[in-house]
Amino acid sequence: MKFEEMDIDDSIKKALKDMKYENATEVQLRTMPDINYGKNVVVRSQTGSGKTSAFGIPLSERIISGKSKYVLIIGPTRELMVQVKNEIKELNKYTNISAYAVYGGHGIVGEIRVLKGSVQILCATPGRLWDHIERKTINPLDFDTVVLDEADRMLDMGFINEIKKILGVVKPKNIHMFSATLDGRVAKLINKYITKYEEVILKDEIVGVDIIEKKITVPKEEKFTELVAHLKKAKGKRVLVFVSTKRYADKLKEKLSRMDFRATCIHGDLTQRKREVALENFKSKKKNVLIATDVAARGLQIDNVGYVINYDEAMDADTHRHRIGRTGRMGKMGYAITFLDSYDDRRSRKRGVGREGREHKRRRRYESRRPRRR
Ligand code: AMP
Repeated sequence: MKFEEMDIDDSIKKALKDMKYENATEVQLRTMPDINYGKNVVVRSQTGSGKTSAFGIPLSERIISGKSKYVLIIGPTRELMVQVKNEIKELNKYTNISAYAVYGGHGIVGEIRVLKGSVQILCATPGRLWDHIERKTINPLDFDTVVLDEADRMLDMGFINEIKKILGVVKPKNIHMFSATLDGRVAKLINKYITKYEEVILKDEIVGVDIIEKKITVPKEEKFTELVAHLKKAKGKRVLVFVSTKRYADKLKEKLSRMDFRATCIHGDLTQRKREVALENFKSKKKNVLIATDVAARGLQIDNVGYVINYDEAMDADTHRHRIGRTGRMGKMGYAITFLDSYDDRRSRKRGVGREGREHKRRRRYESRRPRRR
């Protein structure tokens, strides 16, 4: 849908034209009306989805119409907060709404000077914001609206105490949250501070882009040792390991657990409940190695993993792409390592020898029964 045709304040429409934003993105379409109306929103979205304007536009409109006075946006990094502030300033090129960013790592005196004037939309990193609140250079009670941007990243970066302290002293009418994941610790935060909200879950708009891919030939009998070496290198980061059979997923989990790796698995023979628990443990990092078969992993939101290891190669290029797209997301570098069969293993697989051979034969039989598309 075109911004031109939407019910948006004319001055913002004019700015959007200058910014060359023509059509609203999915996150914008789905969140702007609720935010404008005064409902809280909790949005699962990736960076790059257009989320800044999704809250920037309606929050500016609320200030223009007098429904809101001061807005506080809290985000994990200086870079993000400066970027958000710049976009909000651009949106408000033809209004007189002021936006400013405060963040650690540079002098606070200059910030204090600016804060003495009127700042209607304040973007802040948690540490520096708390500093200002303690110095009384920011009055937390001024803000009627708070946005928690990239909430999961703030928690990853260890800002939980600051966030709790801040949310303990601001008393806004509305709190909105944007986060790439909405489970585990993020869910706890939501339950505690945002009692009533509209949840918006977007289709994955961006699949992994920052991926370093490596393919290595590994003879079958060395695969396990090779995997262990990579798990050690991953140093506690989340590793998603793809195997081709359910039975081997179980076996690998047991072998790794015996070596004190925090491994879990998902495959089609497990009950829904068990799969959910495995996934939950992986997301909360209670377990950091998840062994999965393709069928079980399909449709599940398992992303933001440090490494994808294709212990067994994918059956086709599309499956391979889906597997490795689970890493290298949200601007983080990801690693995908594929173990290629050695020449001898390929030959024995073709002859139908061993576990993979049997699996290969079974799949070929299955494929040959399927009607071919023309
Ligand atoms: P964000 O997810 O807010 O970081 O936005 C990602 C990028 O998309 C930024 O470079 C924005 O300038 C751009 N963007 C946001 N909304 C739109 C839109 N409706 N049309 C075109 N570009 C957009």
